[in-house]
Order: sequence, then C-alpha cells, then structure tokens
Amino acid sequence: MSRSVLVTGGNRGIGLAIARAFAEAGDKVAITYRSGEPPKELIELGCLPVRCDITDTEQVEQAYKEIEDKHGTVEVLVANAGVTKDQLLMRMSEEDFVSVVDTNLTGAFRVVKRANRGMLRAKKGRVVLISSVVGLLGSAGQANYAASKAGLVGFARSLARELGSRNITFNVVAPGFVETDMTKVLTDEQRAGIVSQVPLGRYAQPEEIAAAVTFLASDNASYITGAVIPVDGGLGMGH
Ligand code: NDP
Repeated sequence: MSRSVLVTGGNRGIGLAIARAFAEAGDKVAITYRSGEPPKELIELGCLPVRCDITDTEQVEQAYKEIEDKHGTVEVLVANAGVTKDQLLMRMSEEDFVSVVDTNLTGAFRVVKRANRGMLRAKKGRVVLISSVVGLLGSAGQANYAASKAGLVGFARSLARELGSRNITFNVVAPGFVETDMTKVLTDEQRAGIVSQVPLGRYAQPEEIAAAVTFLASDNASYITGAVIPVDGGLGMGH
C-alpha cells in the first residue's frame, strides 16, 4: 500500500537515501529541502519537494499544507534534517549551541507536533528520528550536537508512552559515521582515528541507515516503539 511519507532534509546525504528507499518501495514521498534545488533523481521517482526551513514554524505549517493537499495525511515521518557547529566548549558561542539545538531537537519537535495532528485522526503513524551515536557516547567538540541528539531519545521515548495507545510509534535511529557532506569536513587523520574505533572498520553508506528506517516504518516493526537502533558498525556498543 502506498503511504504518505515525509523525510526532512531529503535533498542530500542520509535523507536522500531514505527518500529514495521509500519511493522505490512505492510510497508517496515528500521531502523538505532548505536550500538549492531538489535532486532530479527524486523528481524522476515522483517525489514531492517542498522548500522548508524547520527552524521556522510557519514554513513547517505551509509545507504540511502542501503535502496534505497533494499526498494526504503524513503517515510516516522521518525527522532527519540536522546540522553540526563543532567547537570546544570554551570557544562555543551561545548562538552556536542554541542554533544546533533549534535545528536538531526543536526542529524535530516542530515537524513531529504538526504530523501528530493527522496521525491522531488517522489512528496510526510511524515516526523515526535520526539521532547519532555521539548522542549517547558523547564527543569532544560536539557538546551542542551531542546534547541535541541525546535529547531526541528522551523526546521519542516520552511520545512513545504518550501516544502508544493511539497506534503511533516513535523510534530513534542512531547512525555512526556515514559517507555524506557532514563527514567530508573531517581530515584524513580524524577519519583514520574514527575508523580504528569502529569494529566493522569503515564508514556506513547512507543506504545502510535507510534500511533501518524503512524497517521501522514497515509492518514488520509493528510492535517496536521507544527503541534506539544503532547503525554504527559497532562503534557505540552498549548504548
Ligand atoms: P548533510 O549535512 O549531508 O545533510 C543535512 C540535511 O539537513 C540537508 O538536507 C540540509 O538541508 C538539512 N537541514 C539542515 N538544517 C536544516 C533546516 N534548518 N531546515 C531544513 N533542513 C535543514 O547531513 P547527513 O545526511 O550526514 O545527516 C542527516 C542526519 O543524520 C542529520 O540529522 C545528522 O545529524 C545525522 N547523522 C549523520 C551522521 C553522519 O556521519 N553523516 C552520523 C550520525 C547522524 P540543506 O541541503 O538545505 O542544507
């Protein structure tokens, strides 16, 4: 059955791989993109691109109106959009802390809150939040990012309790290091250091994250909620 799926930040990286996976499985997929042009390959797959900055509640509202108009109520939401602004604490400005939390955590709140309306009416829904291995492991120089990603776990688990009786599931996928623009900024030395800590000895491909997300949105995951699924090559073992 073709569902209405929304992937935030679906224009590149992990979000693009997630959107592609849902579209190839036959779902009606909308993606948000903040800048540039939406990728041609998604248009060719029939995806609906909607420009939306998730730090702006009004833009989120407008995006949902357009998606609901064209694809119907969002049944599967993947809150993927995220940013880093890495800096050691002594040099981290309050603005860099607040803006990362505003995008990664409050941004997820904005899109989940708006999706919840339709999911309650439909009496079903699947929400997948993209966190990170560093949310629970911690990472020097990423206090803002790690705090925002750890926050998603408490957020998801609270909502799993609040809305489980309404047949809405909330799960978190916690990727390790993935080949995307976000990790391109790391030096070869940093990269080698990371890979040496990963039992599988390599970065993930975005498609490997997408596989966990599509599983959590599938019928096979009907009894899974409040879970944190690591897709990190073993890096965070134990969280
Ligand atoms: P990219 O930097 O490649 O892409 C980030 C995406 O988020 C882009 O689509 C970007 O849009 C969008 N975005 C950022 N800010 C906003 C905003 N304010 N409003 C709307 N969209 C926004 O990152 P990845 O694909 O690597 O990461 C995707 C998610 O996975 C993020 O949440 C990230 O934290 C998480 N993650 C990534 C890991 C990795 O190793 N890459 C590891 C663990 C987690 P635009 O193109 O317009 O900038």
